[in-house]
Amino acid sequence: KANRKFHPEDTVVSVGKAKIGGGNFSVIAGPCSVESEEQICAVAEDVKASGAALLRGGAFKPRTSPYSFQGMGTAGLDLLMEARAKTGLPIVTEIMDPRMCDLFEREVDVVQVGARNMQNFELLKEVGKMSKPILLKRGLSNTYEEWIMSAEYIMSEGNENVILCERGMRTFETYTRNTLDVSAIPAIKQMSHLPIIVDPSHAAGMYWMVEPLALAAVAAGADGLIIEVHNDPAHAKCDGQQSLTPQNFDALMHKVTALVDLV
Ligand code: PEP
Ligand code: MN
Repeated sequence: KANRKFHPEDTVVSVGKAKIGGGNFSVIAGPCSVESEEQICAVAEDVKASGAALLRGGAFKPRTSPYSFQGMGTAGLDLLMEARAKTGLPIVTEIMDPRMCDLFEREVDVVQVGARNMQNFELLKEVGKMSKPILLKRGLSNTYEEWIMSAEYIMSEGNENVILCERGMRTFETYTRNTLDVSAIPAIKQMSHLPIIVDPSHAAGMYWMVEPLALAAVAAGADGLIIEVHNDPAHAKCDGQQSLTPQNFDALMHKVTALVDLV
C-alpha cells in the first residue's frame, strides 16, 4: 500500500485547511512539550503569525531518563485543545500507548508516532484503526525499507493517511544530536507515494543549525517541516537548546517560503 509501484500518484494528507504532499508544503511548529497555558497559547499565536499551518506540542514524552519531565499528560492535551480553539491551528502530538487511541481519536488532529516507537508493531496496528493522519517518525537507526514497512503496518489496518518524518539518525558523529539524512527525501519519494517531512530540530540538537538544515530539506524536495519553537528556550523543560525563539522562527519562515517558491 505504501509502495510507489502500485500507487504512482502522490498521497496528499489534508488536515483542516492544511495539505501535505503532492506539491503542497506545510510547516508544523511549537514547543517540544506543553508546559503551561501561557506557554502553549503564546507559542501558538506566534507560530501562526509566522505562517505555521499546524501546532506541535508533546503531552506524553518519551524521555531517556525516567526522572526527566514526562510531559503534562491529559492536562497537556486539554491545553493543546485550548490553543487550537484560540488559533484555529490543528494539533499534532505524540502517542506512546495504544490504550490512548480513543482519547487521541477524539481530541487530536495528527497523531505522532515517535522515533522510539517506529517499530512498536502493536501501537502501529492500533493507530492504523484510527481515522486521524499519522506522523510516523523514522527510528533512530532504521533503514528506509523498515520505515516504509512500519507505514505498511498502519496502512494495512485501513489508515492510509501516513506522513513520514526524517528526524536525523544515529551515526558515529557526536557533534550533532543526530545526523540529518537528506538522501531520505529523494529516496522515499522514489520508493513511496507518501509525503515526507523533515524535523531539523531533533537532527541538529542546536538551535543555530536548525535553519540551514531546514533549507537543505526544502531544497531536496521535502513536503513540510516540523520545528521546535519555545517562547523561553533557556527555561524549556525539554529540548530548549534546539528550540528557536519565535523571532528566529519568523526569520526561518521568510527564507523557507522564498525557497519553496523556487523548488
Ligand atoms: C519530539 O518530536 O519531540 C520527539 C520526541 O521526537 P523523536 O521521536 O523524533 O525523538
Ligand atoms: Mn523534542
